[in-house]
Amino acid sequence: MLQVIVFSILFGMAISRTAGETGKSMLSFFDNLNTVILKMVMMLMHLAPYGVFCLLVKFFANMGLPGVENLVKYFSLVLVVLVVHCVGVYGLLLKILTGLNPIIFFKKMWKVMVFAFSTASSNATLPINLRTVEHDLGVDNKVASFSVPLGATINMDGTAIMQGVATVFIAQAYQIDIGIAGYLLVILTATLASIGTAGVPGVGLVTLAMVLQSVGLPVEGIAMIIGVDRFLDMVRTAVNVTGDSAVSVIVAKSEKLLNLEIFHNKKLNAENDPV
Ligand code: ASP
Repeated sequence: MLQVIVFSILFGMAISRTAGETGKSMLSFFDNLNTVILKMVMMLMHLAPYGVFCLLVKFFANMGLPGVENLVKYFSLVLVVLVVHCVGVYGLLLKILTGLNPIIFFKKMWKVMVFAFSTASSNATLPINLRTVEHDLGVDNKVASFSVPLGATINMDGTAIMQGVATVFIAQAYQIDIGIAGYLLVILTATLASIGTAGVPGVGLVTLAMVLQSVGLPVEGIAMIIGVDRFLDMVRTAVNVTGDSAVSVIVAKSEKLLNLEIFHNKKLNAENDPV
């Protein structure tokens, strides 16, 4: 899988450097292919509940009650780590790198987080996030219009967290020791897989297959967690979009493109202002 990723990165870079019609048509070919594949994934997702039902019955028939207990532990752990990452890591980064009050940031981001939570889609949250980052947090359009859409496409740290915990959970369920090298590989592939995850509901679970394969774990293991993934997807999407905004604020502050008056202003403007 790693070879495929490295090849894709190099291939993409080569396409972007290929001038003229050839580069353009290759680019639009892969763009269209991406749309078609996403459609196919969505079609399969409609079938997924029936398949998952059968897999879950088989799994819990073998595992019994301890299987359910473990699932509760997995669910709680992902939830706690997501919250700690969002409040702790982003809050600290904001405080240390910009000196700004993280509470103001989170208060202004609350609506965006709720929107991300209810749609479970970073892409659907993009317009409201962009508006909030510019009009409520005071980030200049030059920074916001680049960093927020880029973040919505590649910054999925909440997804990477879920994939890391899920891989360890599945390894333990199958009683497979992946070793230290395996854990390091999980960190690398979960980061890459989260970058490749589209900002729509449930895709983090699809790219989890790549992480599992990289350390030789059975992909069917995903069935164990699919039942509780929808709620975790909602939470991790809120974390993903908050990360995009936090980084935008940090970059804007370092580039002196942050309007502190707007940041400290208690009034929320984003709802009324156009993007
Ligand atoms: N739903 C997530 C997002 O849009 C992606 C995922 O983890 O499935 O950010």
